[in-house]
Amino acid sequence: MLMDNIYSQSEIRRILEENSLAPLKSLGQNFLTDQNVVENIAEAAVSTKNVLEIGPGLGALTRKLADRAEKVVCVEIDRGMVEALAHTLEGYQNVTVIHQDFLKTDLDEIRNGCFGGEDFAVVGNLPYYITSKILLKVLEDSEHITSFTAMIQSEVADRLCAEPGDENYGAITASLAYYGGPEHLFDVSNKCFYPEPEVSSTVIRYVPRKMFDIDRDQYSKTVRGMFSMRRKNLQNNLKASFGIKGDRARTIFQEAGIDGSERAENLSPKDFFILAKAIYNI
Ligand code: SAM
Repeated sequence: MLMDNIYSQSEIRRILEENSLAPLKSLGQNFLTDQNVVENIAEAAVSTKNVLEIGPGLGALTRKLADRAEKVVCVEIDRGMVEALAHTLEGYQNVTVIHQDFLKTDLDEIRNGCFGGEDFAVVGNLPYYITSKILLKVLEDSEHITSFTAMIQSEVADRLCAEPGDENYGAITASLAYYGGPEHLFDVSNKCFYPEPEVSSTVIRYVPRKMFDIDRDQYSKTVRGMFSMRRKNLQNNLKASFGIKGDRARTIFQEAGIDGSERAENLSPKDFFILAKAIYNI
């Protein structure tokens, strides 16, 4: 087994050079260089024996996942990385690397084709240019996912973990709360990457579950609609987004037990659920 130490900046630079590669900003390539951070992410991520990793890069996290899990499947978009992984993961028999855009990956196909139809955990030091798209893709298809551990920009983590009334609380917070709120695990300094990103990072974890007994689409349309004009109150947004006003609007707020002169930023995810039920007559 080839055991390069890939947990140092100089080694990562050497491996990149050896493979005629350079970190691509356009693909959000910032490689983890701190072994402790990598261990902590792997420890948090392996909630079951099957693990899917998004964007393995040179395999720093993959190796630690492979030490803990029975089967690891990685999806990497960059052909250069996939070729380098053939060396950095040499000897790791329980790892499969798929060369693909994760946004186009069929999670059911992976579950049936690679994990024998069993549930799996998802983890990634996410490429920051598509953080929200990846979060949505995984959570919206999370029926068979035991946990989703993600390293993301701290600013986005603050928004996802915000409480109603906080300045960071917004449509994305309430919308993704449909799957249960994320746990804030730990912050990671930009010194722990090569190259160093301009923003700081945070590791969060979802244990996805459907929190509310309502269709996802109806719930998220209600959240988006109520936040569509952030400075306006719920009444104004109900009119602008759903064309509902007058008596019908009064009945909706009465049924929901919610004050129409409130702003969306003060509503909890449960309030949005109750409001959605009233709007859609459920
Ligand atoms: N896991 C490695 C680590 O922690 O050192 C690399 C993380 S780096 C922040 C993000 C990785 O995601 C890169 O390897 C990049 O090529 C890959 N990536 C970017 N866009 C992707 C996509 N759409 N699908 C799959 N992988 C992608």
